[in-house]
Amino acid sequence: MNAQESTFAAPTEPHVMQTYGRLPIALSHGEGCQVWDTAGRRYLDALSGIAVNTLGHNHPRLVAALRDQVGKLIHTSNYYHVPLQEQLAAKLCELSGLTNAFFCNSGLEANEAAIKIARKFGHDRGNTNPAIVVFEKAFHGRSLATLSATGNPKVQAGFGPLVPGFVRVPLNNLPALEEALAQNPNITAIFLETIQGEGGINPAHMQFLKDLRRLCDQHDLLLMLDEVQCGIGRTGKWFAHQWAGIQPDVMPLAKGLGSGVPIGSVVCGPRAAKVLGPGNHGTTFGGNPLAMRAGVETLAIMEADGLLDNATQRGGELKAALEAGLAGVPGFVEVRGYGLMIGVQLDRPCGALLTQAVEEAQLLISVTADSVVRLLPALILTREEATDIANRLVPLIKRFLAAPAP
Ligand SMILES: *Cc1c(COP(=O)(O)O)cnc(C)c1O
Repeated sequence: MNAQESTFAAPTEPHVMQTYGRLPIALSHGEGCQVWDTAGRRYLDALSGIAVNTLGHNHPRLVAALRDQVGKLIHTSNYYHVPLQEQLAAKLCELSGLTNAFFCNSGLEANEAAIKIARKFGHDRGNTNPAIVVFEKAFHGRSLATLSATGNPKVQAGFGPLVPGFVRVPLNNLPALEEALAQNPNITAIFLETIQGEGGINPAHMQFLKDLRRLCDQHDLLLMLDEVQCGIGRTGKWFAHQWAGIQPDVMPLAKGLGSGVPIGSVVCGPRAAKVLGPGNHGTTFGGNPLAMRAGVETLAIMEADGLLDNATQRGGELKAALEAGLAGVPGFVEVRGYGLMIGVQLDRPCGALLTQAVEEAQLLISVTADSVVRLLPALILTREEATDIANRLVPLIKRFLAAPAP
């Protein structure tokens, strides 16, 4: 370790509310999958702001488009037509096969809209006490409704009473789901992440997704797939459910859609698209021209540069390198995921790896569900960078697993 690396020290923030456990660095600028901190140290970014910076940092075409947009209009309000909304909605519908989009500013807002759609879908059918099926280990956000839908007691602790109207079942367990439907005639929707992100990179099985589609059709329920983290090309398809060849009725999106500019959307098919009407829902910032331009450009650049294929190729290489490097190492369980949404399951809590990755390997990663190392690099990742992530991470994990328990 050189002298510079020994100087990690958390900046003091006496005025910022202490809601995050932060690493002891502050980032100043980036280029592609590289970022630099305020002390001049360079990192390989294998997290891209938690699946947000789809195009990496400082993408020349995105930056030019955003500069152009800032000089024209940033915000107008939804009192007026916003032509870029229709442009982005049309593109999302073309890519998903769905029919209409609503725009907001974040993942939880997209999920709030989905929950409101599910409830009103029930009310429209004379069901004044609608319920929504949700899943164990789910994460849908931190507003009261979305934390109530979330299946993590740590997210809910201290904020009761929870919003009622959610029925929880285990993921990938069809009999449990059928039982819940049989017991509760008020259920109007089934709501899940196509691939659970915060819960530890747990994919809904393809057959389970097909079964859900069939059950929703049979029982007149909405299938609502939270693709806030796994959507927008992350898994090598535009949307993760496309691997299973099905379509949802309601699909919340956010994180990667604006490549760093805050944005959210709920995209709906014909059964859900007309549930909300004038006066039922809205947001001041949602659908503003800057965010819409970011979405339009992100999708156009992804298409022009073949980033879905890149996610599949680089993700395959990264997974293979991690599996090869960790095979047989005591404490390593498995590598999971699709494309560039990858989890490395260990047999023990490994939060300590976050700091070790920063300080000893100049690598930005995340640890979720206590014992899963999560990798969500930008979709522009090169082959060399995929190899580089594995070359930095494998020795780190090996050293961590070999160390005696603290
Ligand atoms: C991040 C995330 C959310 C919440 O998004 P915010 O923008 O943080 O509100 C919801 N659902 C999933 C699947 C997520 O990964």
